[in-house]
Amino acid sequence: MKRILSGITPSGSKLHIGNYFGAVKPQIDFQDSDHQTLYFVSDLHALTTVKDKTILEDNIRNVILDYLALGIDPEKTIFFRQSDVSEHSELAIVLANYISFAQMQRMHAYKDKLSKGADVNINMGLFNYPILMAADILLYQVDGVPVGEDQRQHIELARDIAENFNKVIKQEYFKMPQPIISKDIGKVIGTDGKRKMSKSLGNIIGIFDDEEVIKKQIMSCYTDPNRIKATDPGKVEANPVFIFHDLLNQNKEEVADLKARYLKGTVGDVEVKEKLFKAHLEYFKEERALRKKLENDPELIKKILESGKNRAKEIATKTIREVYEIVGLS
Ligand code: ATP
Ligand code: MG
Repeated sequence: MKRILSGITPSGSKLHIGNYFGAVKPQIDFQDSDHQTLYFVSDLHALTTVKDKTILEDNIRNVILDYLALGIDPEKTIFFRQSDVSEHSELAIVLANYISFAQMQRMHAYKDKLSKGADVNINMGLFNYPILMAADILLYQVDGVPVGEDQRQHIELARDIAENFNKVIKQEYFKMPQPIISKDIGKVIGTDGKRKMSKSLGNIIGIFDDEEVIKKQIMSCYTDPNRIKATDPGKVEANPVFIFHDLLNQNKEEVADLKARYLKGTVGDVEVKEKLFKAHLEYFKEERALRKKLENDPELIKKILESGKNRAKEIATKTIREVYEIVGLS
């Protein structure tokens, strides 16, 4: 049975539809098919940007609830918190010795930050982030990692580290993880119509926010900038509201009708967005109800995390023991 692993960083308080279609939905599909799945909340990674204790605790709690409400089934999946399994950090320290500084400087996340300001503002946690992520993956000897397009380079780095390590020890110890990235929805556009939807960019459509918040996010969504009046013919292709309709609206006839009228200039943006809002509430109806239930059951969440931690540790301690033995630390 193939082993699949993925994580979500609690860098913001709530997940968005980009996270769902790009990462969580494919992850759930694996969980429900013939695979062993490990999914975790990568709370250590959040330290690179979140420095406020209360905010971090709140983010972690919310992302755990979101993840579970979206359909992670702790009976089928090993679901855990990264900081509960200290072997992630231990392996990262070892792996850092199998990658060059020059190669780390080529990582997008670091380069993007660098292009925005001086390097004195970049903490070492951010610079080292891909090494910890390689440890997250290699620790479990996984076959595949379902993620969004933005994570491709990090999976490649994990493969490079594994290859370097294997070469040095002259043994195929680490398995090569494959990135699993959806062609169509690996990169959901943000409501600004420009950048990828991101927790940290504030261009999101949430999943579990209050209805008024989601309505506001949808109503302020970028559409076709060249269309001034509702009677102007508009563009449907690459128009964020229609991308979101295609993802969320299960009434395909309605979507086809809205598109046809938009092209002719016989429907206003407001109607298109109001229908999108309705479709969103319908799409996530069960998940939103489940989240309310989970919020009121902290004991259940504790139990799920405890069991996930124990099952993850079974695999993780074995790897660390073997790695220490291989490099001469046992
Ligand atoms: P941040 O702004 O802090 O980076 P994020 O919104 O990008 O947050 P992550 O926690 O980095 O979310 O990513 C969680 C998962 O969701 C990853 O697998 C990532 O590739 C995927 N993902 C994030 N944003 C999108 C998007 N817009 N489209 C598709 N997948 C996405
Ligand atoms: Mg991201």
